[in-house]
Amino acid sequence: MPTIAQIAAQVRHLITEVQAEEVDEARRTPDAPRIVDVREQNEWDAGHIPGAELIPLGTVAQVAAERLPKKDERIVLHCAAGVRSAVATYQLQQLGYTNVSSMAGGFSAWRELGLPIEAPLTGAQLERYSRHLLIPEVGIGGQQTLLRSKVLMVGAGGLGSPAAYYLAAAGVGTLGIVDSDVVDATNLQRQILHSSERIGEPKVESAKRTLEALNPDVRIVGYRERLEASNIDRIIADYDVIVDGADNFPTRYLLNDASVKWRKPVVHGSIYRFEGQVTVFKPFEGPCYRCLFHEPPPPELAPSCAEAGVLGVLPGVIGTIQANEAIKLLLGIGEPLIGRYLLFDALDATFREVKLRRDPKCPVCGENPTITEYIDYEGFCASPADWRAQHEPSVATPAD
Ligand code: ZN
Repeated sequence: MPTIAQIAAQVRHLITEVQAEEVDEARRTPDAPRIVDVREQNEWDAGHIPGAELIPLGTVAQVAAERLPKKDERIVLHCAAGVRSAVATYQLQQLGYTNVSSMAGGFSAWRELGLPIEAPLTGAQLERYSRHLLIPEVGIGGQQTLLRSKVLMVGAGGLGSPAAYYLAAAGVGTLGIVDSDVVDATNLQRQILHSSERIGEPKVESAKRTLEALNPDVRIVGYRERLEASNIDRIIADYDVIVDGADNFPTRYLLNDASVKWRKPVVHGSIYRFEGQVTVFKPFEGPCYRCLFHEPPPPELAPSCAEAGVLGVLPGVIGTIQANEAIKLLLGIGEPLIGRYLLFDALDATFREVKLRRDPKCPVCGENPTITEYIDYEGFCASPADWRAQHEPSVATPAD
């Protein structure tokens, strides 16, 4: 079988060739030709002529009628060096196209002349995200979506650190981090986001340094403040997805109420001793946190402020599952944990899942909401995991 180059040599005298400069001039005129790139997707992804369209050589004959319906339209075909486009031009001529030509020297000639090139990702990005690009569900389009996406991390501690680390590595373009704490000596997760041993440095500063060094595509926006009724609208308005690594009730309830108001999905995670939980609260598509627990516990019943014990690797497991859920939500792929409460038992090494349903009587997302303004709960600092442990039966009983 003859090679493409041999076929091109045979048909070259039967077709018209145009120079890259002519094509560049013509594309700026009102009757610009259609520029069709007959290279492969990966070549296109690495850079192409602005305004061109991709029809790989192998598909030209099949899709011509649909993609190029006007046979007298002026069409310029190009490939990398002018070989494949010579063949494609001949093919179209045989199909009855009357005004087709092939760009001599192809994209190489175009590039050498310094003519404009459009690239969805830079060379460094193609390399950095090469493993994502190989997955059809992500690909160039998905990676561009991630680079445009904004995720807010509430808390830069145990759950927030691994989640932020993987989201940054995945190329989520903007990561907001809310944390009012400073790096302390007892924080195990210091090793992920706060490894520079600068005890006393604000966590958001240390996270910013680590994550921007990890991936220069990522912009870190630090909020060294505690989420409150007065600032939450300003902070969350801009984000697509919120990852909740909060370690206290006031923040968790406030975040829930604001996320319902703004219809922002929250990837919720919590940890307690050897058990971790993850779910996605997507307003009005699944339950919210208040559908499960209408009110925080009264201060007199709240457990002490002492930190609950947690197995060191558990936040890593749960935080990375949260990052995974966030990426799925951003890309619109897979089955997110909406209405599904995923429980991981580190001792048994088992996952189980509990179905969660919306509560029509929910005070924020129910039929007759009774909470219509933000509430700054005060007076206790118990972690949600502590409280959840005390209320275990209300959550762990399968609803179906
Ligand atoms: Zn609700």
